[in-house]
Amino acid sequence: MSRVYNFCAGPAALPERVLAQAQADLLDWQGHGLSVMEMSHRGEHFQHIAHESEQDLRALLNIPEHYKVLFLQGGASSQFAMVPLNLLGNKTQASYINTGQWSKKAISEAKRFAQVEIAASSEAQDYVSVPASHELSISKDSAYLHYTPNETIGGLSFDYIPDITIPLVADYSSAILSQPLDIERFGLIYAGAQKNIGPAGLCLVIVREDLLGSAQAQTPAMLNYQTLADAGSMYNTPPTFSWYLAGLVFKWLKDEIGGLANMAVINQRKADKLYTYLDGQDFYANPINPAHRSMMNVPFTLAEPALEQTFLQDAKQAGLLNLAGHRSVGGMRASIYNAVPEAAIDALLEFMQDFVRQKG
Ligand SMILES: *Cc1c(COP(=O)(O)O)cnc(C)c1O
Repeated sequence: MSRVYNFCAGPAALPERVLAQAQADLLDWQGHGLSVMEMSHRGEHFQHIAHESEQDLRALLNIPEHYKVLFLQGGASSQFAMVPLNLLGNKTQASYINTGQWSKKAISEAKRFAQVEIAASSEAQDYVSVPASHELSISKDSAYLHYTPNETIGGLSFDYIPDITIPLVADYSSAILSQPLDIERFGLIYAGAQKNIGPAGLCLVIVREDLLGSAQAQTPAMLNYQTLADAGSMYNTPPTFSWYLAGLVFKWLKDEIGGLANMAVINQRKADKLYTYLDGQDFYANPINPAHRSMMNVPFTLAEPALEQTFLQDAKQAGLLNLAGHRSVGGMRASIYNAVPEAAIDALLEFMQDFVRQKG
């Protein structure tokens, strides 16, 4: 068997140990004679899986007791609507920071439910940097401030957490679990699983308890955090297999990596290698302000765009997959999430250097 190095932005690489464990468990989970996919979500075995995964996540992120953890369906994109539906309360206005494509999607969905105030935007700078904290203008009538700490497509990342008095909401889809996080700074965090958590089909929500219970009257039950929290994320059938796999990823982070502080050191080293190389030559380039570069998603361009297809084909030949940039922006992008090993970065750098020698 030979596994490629996978730089996909999502669904992304999973730790090999997790896949091997899932394979070993597939036909017969822990000697009980059936797979996790075939279990009742209300039965004792899955209840155990659900409980343990939540405990492990709470330990990893140091999540305080007064926060609920929800394991939901609908991806991060459903949160674009659920956040305003649940958090507006008796207000009509919400503030958003615009730092790129995912911010913009969150904003356009929120506009169905709320009057959206733009607290700051880096659109005029073509999204190469994030607004400084002193540039944020937050209306006191806003129910919350929403932002995207890591823009997956642009490769742009906040180097600070906004310090505000209204609840802070973060779309952490592409950076959650990449480093320790001070949960208490946030009212609500959400993250689609398929980047740093597990397979697609699952979305994680971490929400401060006092923000529950004031959803708009017409909020469907499936979109109501209170309803979902009261049911322990089992108002209906949850995505059991994705949830179980996420649990294996949490165990991998705890036991094999040794926690998020260690994960952050590894991730920083991986990203530094790539950016140092990108900045040290002139065939490849990354446009982002160095202070705001993403540790997870590294877009880059080639001095000769006509060589992009050759680059991708040759990379594939070399076992380096999914390096094309997002279809909306082109260029290249290496997504180097938690499960992408440092050896993958080394192999990519070697390939990039070879490519310049031959074609540059
Ligand atoms: C991938 C991604 C999304 C969309 O996630 P889905 O689960 O596909 O809805 C939203 N926001 C960010 C920052 C992402 O990276």
